[in-house]
Amino acid sequence: MTLKGGYFRKYLHCDLSAGTCERLPLSDEIIAKYIGGRGFGAKMVWDNLKAHDFKIDPLGPENLLVIAPGPLTGVYLPASGKTSFVSISPATGLYGDSSMGGSFGVELRQAGLDFLSVTGAAPELSILFIDDDEEAKIIPMPQLKGKSCLETEGIIKKHLGSNDVHVAAIGVAGENLVRFACVNGDWSRNAGRTGIGAVMGSKNLKAIVVRGEADLPVVDLDAVIQETEKAMRYMREHKFFHVWQQQGLMSVIEYANTQGILPTCNFKATVFQGHDKINGETMLDRYKIGDSACFMCPMSCGNICLVKNGKYTGTVTEGPEYESCAMLGSNLGVDKFDAVLEANRLCDEYGIDTISTGGIIGAIIEGYESGVVSLEDLDGSEISWNDDGAIMELIRKIAQREGIGDTLANGAKAIIERWPEMDKLLLQVKGLEQSAYDSRVGASMGLAYATSDIGAHHTRAWTIAKEIEEGANWTPRQKVDLVIYHQTLRPLFDMLGVCRLPWIELGLNERHYEKFYSYVTGKETTLEDLLALSNVIYSLTRRINVHMGATRKDDTLPYKVREAPILTGPNAGKKLDAQEFDKMLSLYYEVRGWDENGVPPAEMEALF
Ligand code: SF4
Repeated sequence: MTLKGGYFRKYLHCDLSAGTCERLPLSDEIIAKYIGGRGFGAKMVWDNLKAHDFKIDPLGPENLLVIAPGPLTGVYLPASGKTSFVSISPATGLYGDSSMGGSFGVELRQAGLDFLSVTGAAPELSILFIDDDEEAKIIPMPQLKGKSCLETEGIIKKHLGSNDVHVAAIGVAGENLVRFACVNGDWSRNAGRTGIGAVMGSKNLKAIVVRGEADLPVVDLDAVIQETEKAMRYMREHKFFHVWQQQGLMSVIEYANTQGILPTCNFKATVFQGHDKINGETMLDRYKIGDSACFMCPMSCGNICLVKNGKYTGTVTEGPEYESCAMLGSNLGVDKFDAVLEANRLCDEYGIDTISTGGIIGAIIEGYESGVVSLEDLDGSEISWNDDGAIMELIRKIAQREGIGDTLANGAKAIIERWPEMDKLLLQVKGLEQSAYDSRVGASMGLAYATSDIGAHHTRAWTIAKEIEEGANWTPRQKVDLVIYHQTLRPLFDMLGVCRLPWIELGLNERHYEKFYSYVTGKETTLEDLLALSNVIYSLTRRINVHMGATRKDDTLPYKVREAPILTGPNAGKKLDAQEFDKMLSLYYEVRGWDENGVPPAEMEALF
């Protein structure tokens, strides 16, 4: 059935090796089954893998990169600025995706496109310019070599003679194929995880630039506006709305510290003595100078900060948010907020993921402390907790692939290969460094990390707060059900092209989204219909991972979570119960309808 609204029924496919860009029709069948965002991305990546007999080098020209907003992206409804970047991940070698806020995806839709796919590699560093419905151009711009994400945006705007474009760019780290390089859009919104920036780097694609003017296809705009007003009223009246506007995710630092889940000194502890020096209140008192928001978001969770004195005077960042502050702050023992800001700025400038960077540097500090990594390995420069000068230098070396940075830039798997004992210190799942929530405190969070299709990232299922608050007497089945519900609903937000934070942080009812989808497309659709489609895509990405070699043994948790109890704080002594976890994993597979090894039935492939 052809939907009346929601889609342009077109995507742009660019082959950088051939130097061609083509607008292609998007079929009703793909629209109906995959919705948009990561759904479109997973489908296109799946088709590309099949065409290559599942033999794809993530950094090879054959790896397909898909940039896909959703049918709700850019529509007049809350927080509708999200776009998914999907590919085979250089960090894990498996399915990878990451979403970006801001307005880049909105502009891509206004160029009349449902998504963009890119294959091949340009002969020299280039940009892809999509100018509304004109023929897209691949423009060589070798002068961008070595430029930061922000500089790149400025140079491109000058070159095109227009500020009226949106840019998604990589920094030096992406050019240098750092396996956790990110893509930066609209100055500060990052598709941070799984190394999508390195995929762009491998294609010699420094930036994607878009300008669009098309109206979005919305069937019942009046109904959308009414529903949006209801949702916005609910959000604005929420008791935490103003805290969110003021602090954004930085308010989580205090919560995580109080609950004993704040990564501290490479997850040795989960309570940080210096928490009040790097929390949201300190940011508000001394550093914050402005807000920033993604398209149509009243929560405006972005914090613009300025360091006004001391050795980092003049540092300006859009950030940090919780993950960056925890991983570059408490996880490295850093109790100086100005140093956290500078580390955050450097990561943004070079274009590397703050979570992976903080996880790797934390493990290296502990590795040096415990003798696993030698002074010679460190190129003769010592490093210790709270040693901000050495931390900045290591960030630079990673991005530039200099000295030890060349190994670190290859991510968790390469680090463990060089120093096998680092397997005990580096927290990662499937090669992706763990987010900033300690799963020793909640078994459901452990299950979420272990079964996440992209590795240890919290966006698939963030269950820890609910388990801490309500889960003392939960059965294993309740924990499994919660993880699966999150793994179904949260990816649905990525498919629709909206931010999940109004739902998870302010409790905006998820039923709003069935209405938004129905009013935009003109097809009455229930949340259950949408969740069922999202669920199939979780099996699709699982089948991708199985074809790429993942097995049950990859659905595991880091050594520290399994074997090293938390040292201090309210959760001192806690670690994973290995037997309980194993049983829960089997139950999880059973509930999903996968076999004992976590493999979805091969017959499911007929659905994809
Ligand atoms: S809550 Fe934050 S991340 Fe989400 S759309 Fe709003 S500003 Fe962007």
